[in-house]
Amino acid sequence: MTCQHDKRYVFGVVQKMCVLGLAAMAFLFASQVSAQTFPIKDKPVTIVVPFTAGGPTDRLARDMAEALRKPLGVNSIVVENVLGAGGAIATQKVARAAPDGHTILIHHIGMATMPALNRNPGFQVDTDFTFLGMIHEVPMTIVARPTMEANDYKQLSAWISKNKDKANLGNAGVGSASHLCGLLWQAAMKTELATIPYKGVSMAITDLMGGQIDLLCDQTSNTMAYIEGKKVKAYAVTSPKRLTQPVFSTLPTMQELGVKGFQISIWHGAYGPKGMSADTQAKWNAAMRTVLTDPAFVKKQQDMGAVMISDKRIEPAEHRKFVLSEINKWSPVIKAAGVYAD
Ligand code: ASP
Repeated sequence: MTCQHDKRYVFGVVQKMCVLGLAAMAFLFASQVSAQTFPIKDKPVTIVVPFTAGGPTDRLARDMAEALRKPLGVNSIVVENVLGAGGAIATQKVARAAPDGHTILIHHIGMATMPALNRNPGFQVDTDFTFLGMIHEVPMTIVARPTMEANDYKQLSAWISKNKDKANLGNAGVGSASHLCGLLWQAAMKTELATIPYKGVSMAITDLMGGQIDLLCDQTSNTMAYIEGKKVKAYAVTSPKRLTQPVFSTLPTMQELGVKGFQISIWHGAYGPKGMSADTQAKWNAAMRTVLTDPAFVKKQQDMGAVMISDKRIEPAEHRKFVLSEINKWSPVIKAAGVYAD
């Protein structure tokens, strides 16, 4: 064996040892990563919201983000507004996120109405998500610009009949709750109005206050402050019974006004991507239950007309069942209205 050979032999052995060493390190690292459970230390937690900041979905998500920190055992939760396509862009983003519990979606009834309102939403509600539990339900209100001539619902419907060619109705995009409410309202009135889509109702209500648009149907949790401050005019609620909060108690229900079959309540829930571990799902659900029974959190939501979910739909399996039943409930209604985004 020459010296040259010796050197090559030693080099080869060292090379093999290095490769083996690296492989062992990689294995150790990989097993450490897979053993990491939610929450992963120092990794941010993000709640994705499908609409603009300042709207009702965003406000709920921000209240949840604040209240969830302690029960989840994390220092901060970031709220990310991912806008567009009536909520579909945000929903797609979460469907494709890592299922480690660090990215979740807070969304409303749009999870069930989007598949009928948009033939190609880019996600499958029943297979692309891990259901984490429902949060609350909120009725809608019919509101108009502050300069609207009508002083009650009867006068408003007379104004609409007279001005149907120029009256317009804002919404948060195809697939949003305000879009659905507008569809139901137009169907009940047997009138078609021009609709103006925004990327969230905070933008629509700004234009309503400024008189750029005439009408909007949106959650009480959004309209309350504007009605109280006389920045918009309110005409009716979509709940089966009148609401008890002073600001809403004078508003008639659609049933009282003789507008049959127009009842809608906007529910909200939380979702992770599919493939989340049962342990991570259980941690989120337990933290949400803590928040949903926290007196300060509950009072804040109730004051805005919301009703916290206290029945079995707080369970992920029941949440999933309910969303699928809502798809079956709303799809024929939406299809009958013949509205699609594409
Ligand atoms: N309330 C809105 C909707 O119409 C969404 C939002 O801006 O929160 O769906």
